[in-house]
Amino acid sequence: MAAAEDVLNRRTALDAYAASIAGCTNCRLAQGRTQVVFGVGNPEAELMFVGEAPGFHEDKQGYPFVGQAGQLLDRLLGEIGLSRADVYIANVIKCRPPGNRDPAPDEIEACESHLFRQLGIIEPKLVATLGNFATKLLSGKSHGITRVHGKPQQATVGGRGITLYPIYHPAAALYTPTMLQTLREDFARIPALLTEEVPEPPNVIQLPAPGPVPASLAAVEQLGLF
Ligand code: URA
Repeated sequence: MAAAEDVLNRRTALDAYAASIAGCTNCRLAQGRTQVVFGVGNPEAELMFVGEAPGFHEDKQGYPFVGQAGQLLDRLLGEIGLSRADVYIANVIKCRPPGNRDPAPDEIEACESHLFRQLGIIEPKLVATLGNFATKLLSGKSHGITRVHGKPQQATVGGRGITLYPIYHPAAALYTPTMLQTLREDFARIPALLTEEVPEPPNVIQLPAPGPVPASLAAVEQLGLF
């Protein structure tokens, strides 16, 4: 498929999916939201960021990361020579939890298919998970961000291999200089990660190469039974 056609197809698919969930009532968050905050960015992005949930400004404007944490995200992207136009940005949860509380497990479960669909359309190579919620959902593991940040890991999403790159959530780094420094250092590795091959997902059973017949089997073989 020609590259321009490919972009158009992904854009069309994203727009169609966003329209199809604009009235989503999968969970209780539908009641308090202004709108579903679907995602924003380049449908061809090799790098996708996944945050937690829309906050006050995101809920009002309809785009992820438009508040203070978003401004920091933009700055960190700029420091590695990227802008919003180069990446795709989405959240685990598409509707604002009241008072910006943490998303509840049943809300994550109700919403996760939307994120998986976005990942399936965009097919990014590298997914930077911002904070605990995105990291735990996409890694399928319970390790906290403090332990795993800055350590790329291989994952399979929808049968495709991707590299997950857990990093601190920019909101957490806003007022903690040491965390901001760590986030900066973790960001600095992103350009190199984008040049690395993503290994195939380990879902193909690798048969061992035929080796010598074990002595016990060779004896059975001599009987001519198989
Ligand atoms: N924090 C998030 O996790 N997502 C947003 O969209 C904004 C702030």
